Amino acid sequence: MNYLQIESLQAAYVQNNILTPALQDVNLSLAQGSIGALIGPSGSGKSTLLSIVAGLKRDYQGRVLLNGQLPENNKETALILQDYGLLPWKTVWDNVRLGLQIKGLPKVEAAERIEKTLAKLGLLNLKKRFPAQLSGGQRQRVAIARSLVLEPKLLLMDEPFSSLDALTREEMQDWLLKLWQETGLTILFITHNIEEAVFLGQKILVMSGSPGTISQEFVNPLAGDYAARGKVEFLQTAGFLRHCLRGVK
Ligand code: ADP
Ligand code: MG
Repeated sequence: MNYLQIESLQAAYVQNNILTPALQDVNLSLAQGSIGALIGPSGSGKSTLLSIVAGLKRDYQGRVLLNGQLPENNKETALILQDYGLLPWKTVWDNVRLGLQIKGLPKVEAAERIEKTLAKLGLLNLKKRFPAQLSGGQRQRVAIARSLVLEPKLLLMDEPFSSLDALTREEMQDWLLKLWQETGLTILFITHNIEEAVFLGQKILVMSGSPGTISQEFVNPLAGDYAARGKVEFLQTAGFLRHCLRGVK
């Protein structure tokens, strides 16, 4: 079953009274419990697409359904951005508690959920620290914890690991894979990194053009295999994807 279904999506921005198209005829489907990787050059509309799916940008044409619902009616989506968005004056625990406070969950239940989520993300021993006392990878995990504590069904990530060094980035990819295997979440993420797309994306979607569209998509059987990085097929798939991306410039 498809969790996300997009048909003939078009979107534009108005700036100084001029309408500039950002997306044109985007069609996309993503099966429930699968990982989709969206890759493409800057300005091809990747972030616009994600903000529509997240229910943030509501002026679009076409059909966007999440589990049969319009984005603005779906309360089961979490959007994670590159810059973490943590509050520097709050501890890890309090940052993760934020969303639950807004939801008005009873204190005991909230504490249980926070504890469980922090444990799952290996952050429990850091719960009293402030964001400035964490590494980049840890900060990004706190940002993810803050979303996961709300028990979303769809995780949207906009270049989540871009500001991390190469090794931390690979650790985070492994970790995201583990999280996905444990939770069965549906994940759609944007990346600029070809290897990241091949390591994580069961479905790889190449975006191109301005206004942007999905110019190519393919199913990637290597995704989800921890040992894939060293395999010949992995390098071949990365090479193929590189070729696709060069072709769309
Ligand atoms: P990507 O994430 O692939 O780099 P974006 O979705 O950010 O692409 O942008 C797609 C196009 O829409 C670009 O031409 C960009 O300049 C334009 N755009 C994005 N956000 C806005 C905005 N808030 N106002 C006006 N134009 C925007
Ligand atoms: Mg972007």
